[in-house]
Amino acid sequence: MTAIKRIYTFGNGTAEGKAGMKNLLGGKGANLAEMNLIGLPVPPGFTITTDVCTEYAQFGMAKVRELLTDEAKAALKGLEAIMKMDFGSDENPLLLSVRSGARASMPGMMDTILNLGMNDRAVLGLIKKTGNERFAWDSYRRFVQMYGDVVLGLKPASKEAHDPFEVIIEQMKSEKKVENDLDLTAEDLKELVRRFKLAVKENTGHDFPDDPWEQLWGAIFAVFDSWQNDRAVYYRALNNIPEEWGTAVNVQAMVFGNMGNNSATGVAFTRDAATGENLFNGEYLINAQGEDVVAGIRTPQQITKIGSQRWAVLQKYSEETRASQYPSLEEAMPQAYSELYAIQKKLEDHAVDMQDIEFTIQDGKLWMLQTRNGKRTGAAMVKIAMDFFREGRIDDKEVLKRIEPNKLDELLHPVFTKDGLANANRIAQGLPASPGAATGIIVFSADRAVEVSQKDIKVILVRIETSPEDLRGMNVAEGILTARGGMTSHAAVVARGMGKCCVSGAGALQIDYHAKTMKVDNVIYNEGDWISLYGSTGEIFEGKIETQDPELSGDFGAIMDLAEKYTRLKVRTNADTPNDAQVARDFGAVGIGLCRTEHMFFEGDRIKAMREMILADDEAGRRKALEKLLPIQREDFEGIFTAMTGLPVTIRLLDPPLHEFVPNEEKNQHEMAKELGIDVSVVKERVEQLHEVNPMLGHRGCRLGNTYPEITEMQARAIIEAALDAKAKGFDPIPEIMIPLVGTEAEFTMQEQIIRQTAEKVFAERNDRINYLVGTMIEIPRATLIADKIARNAEFFSFGTNDLTQMTYGYSRDDVAKFLPIYQAKGILKNDPFQILDREGVGQLVKLATELGRKTNPKLKVGICGEHGGEPTSVEFCHLVGMDYVSCSPYRVPIARVAAALAVLNN
Ligand code: PEP
Ligand code: MG
Repeated sequence: MTAIKRIYTFGNGTAEGKAGMKNLLGGKGANLAEMNLIGLPVPPGFTITTDVCTEYAQFGMAKVRELLTDEAKAALKGLEAIMKMDFGSDENPLLLSVRSGARASMPGMMDTILNLGMNDRAVLGLIKKTGNERFAWDSYRRFVQMYGDVVLGLKPASKEAHDPFEVIIEQMKSEKKVENDLDLTAEDLKELVRRFKLAVKENTGHDFPDDPWEQLWGAIFAVFDSWQNDRAVYYRALNNIPEEWGTAVNVQAMVFGNMGNNSATGVAFTRDAATGENLFNGEYLINAQGEDVVAGIRTPQQITKIGSQRWAVLQKYSEETRASQYPSLEEAMPQAYSELYAIQKKLEDHAVDMQDIEFTIQDGKLWMLQTRNGKRTGAAMVKIAMDFFREGRIDDKEVLKRIEPNKLDELLHPVFTKDGLANANRIAQGLPASPGAATGIIVFSADRAVEVSQKDIKVILVRIETSPEDLRGMNVAEGILTARGGMTSHAAVVARGMGKCCVSGAGALQIDYHAKTMKVDNVIYNEGDWISLYGSTGEIFEGKIETQDPELSGDFGAIMDLAEKYTRLKVRTNADTPNDAQVARDFGAVGIGLCRTEHMFFEGDRIKAMREMILADDEAGRRKALEKLLPIQREDFEGIFTAMTGLPVTIRLLDPPLHEFVPNEEKNQHEMAKELGIDVSVVKERVEQLHEVNPMLGHRGCRLGNTYPEITEMQARAIIEAALDAKAKGFDPIPEIMIPLVGTEAEFTMQEQIIRQTAEKVFAERNDRINYLVGTMIEIPRATLIADKIARNAEFFSFGTNDLTQMTYGYSRDDVAKFLPIYQAKGILKNDPFQILDREGVGQLVKLATELGRKTNPKLKVGICGEHGGEPTSVEFCHLVGMDYVSCSPYRVPIARVAAALAVLNN
């Protein structure tokens, strides 16, 4: 049995690891090794693998410490030899940094400890060695502060409370009558160390650990622990990073940016991470350690002169002020700068990607602390990939592989301005239901939204949950916020279709329609107060935040062309209006995969005819009302066929339960009675009759068409007549009629018969014909099991994975937000199955139904029209099971197109 290797060393131009070992060493560890191998100046050190993080979770601290001890001792010995220093020595002490580093970068989410190894002896050694007393005591007090916070847990008592160490520093500054930390003397800092240690003793009951090895073990396990802190867990959930990956721990010899005015520390990007512009840029601070740059106590300066000049313009500083008070590194330390410039170029060339680097200058000598592929905006992602392609450094397949499909969303929707976001106060978190940024005043009803927006005031529609009745309000709102509902709730689906920002399922909101208030954490927001939503992350902010509109570059079009080149799956869209259809067509959709006819019933006066139909006592009454709906539907369909000429259009027959079309509120019931000229008691009685405990599983889908065949008849007629009308005008309509919620073969065949008979009737009347298909949604688990029987007559299947997920899991689509976050936090669910198709369960049903269906009908067309059709990993799954197309909301079409191409390239 070969022993497991848990520690990988690097230093002096050699390394046991390399760039390709990110899974084991984490991104930081692998790149530190690689930088050594390409001859860059890197402080030596070692990496404890991500596997050890997993072992720690399994076996606990004592066992893992035992497993690590021999290797750790050996690695540290090697480090002492390279540095010619001794850990804890009072002559020439070696100090260490201990940092996290996961496989995927999680900037700032986990913990770091610097200056480790400091104690009352080492500080004397440092003074002896550097002759710099102030620096030595400053390093010591930084260490006690950081270690006290991260390892010993001395944190602010509450969100509002001050950091206990900062309180002590402030006290010291006021005693010494100085304003700046830099004005504290060596004596003052020494006193701070004493007071800090006292605070530790008082708060934890233990002395601050003096032994360097005890310090090191404490730090290593604290960094492993930080993999589970709230920030990290939240970040992982947001970015779909699996918990089992774990973090590595990097232990390195310290280099000091705070050794005086010939020392500095900074962060830089090889290209602009916001725009993608090919321009080296970054920030640094003289005489500082890394945390000072992030902490915002001092204003960081720009690295390049051009960056500094651009910055000064924004700050409204004169060139003189800039050059004297905030000079760039290029001007302040030209030698170190030119070395840094050459290194960043080398790193970018080596990785062939934009790098995010950290460095320290110790007494004039440059040290590289980190490099990684830099995080970037969607716009920068596209531009940088295309620039590398044009420079001939990557091929077109690699361009596509560098596109994170979901990030294309940012290019299609408004975002908050950087300045706006910098001062924003986040008040709550919901689900990222539909992307983009929105700001407006709070309104609590659709009517109010319409009323207010007519005065050119931007509104955010805030609802406990939305129903189709809210459609008009949603349409005029900048964004939609709901307290309930998951990613496939009505609000989410409709908002995505409109390309409108939506945050759903924000459970922390207490909404009171009567009082017209929204309460969050005991703060009350009234109608008329400004709030802002970021639908891409689900964040809710207080107040007004400036937004900016997207601009589509030529590079975006180029990416779409590349996607087209490699894709096999077709991408259609879910659209209910000619306008949506056109938007999607412009994005490259090649058909409509789902037209939800019910959405059409809510516009203008149509709801009246619909309600008349619902209130009718018998078939004759229903037919009368349906006659009024027929011309309206026909006109809608013709508009869609026209916009989509030459491309298939799948129109679904009426799906939602009828109660969704009648008003629940008393006031609206009175209005409806008045409109229809009947007594309000009749309305009330009907509403009562229609009430269902769980309407999602009730009288809906083909159950409506099979109980009221005249509805199907009307819709089939409207579709066929519209197609013939469009044809007569020279268009090329390709209708596909889709029956929803089929669970038995007869449910399908009975509806099919009505459709075909009606079509023949219309053909005879018009003396003209047209080709059309009849197919079904597969969204009930039973339907997947008898798909072979259904496919004997169905010409296409479209997986309604929203309902299929709901029924397979037994989770209501509308109530899932109540427990989903807890389930995810506890690891019961890795992700939201309404967002990312569950391959293990729901996916099996999809695969089975596809195979069974094609067995009896080899020509069967198969697609998906649930919300998963626009989610990249689900699109990949659809490719793998051999579907013909995916269908998604218009603004997701570009995402699905790239995901479909990637599915080919990655498999
Ligand atoms: C589905 O169930 O996946 C679907 C597309 O239909 P709806 O969301 O309208 O129920
Ligand atoms: Mg459905």
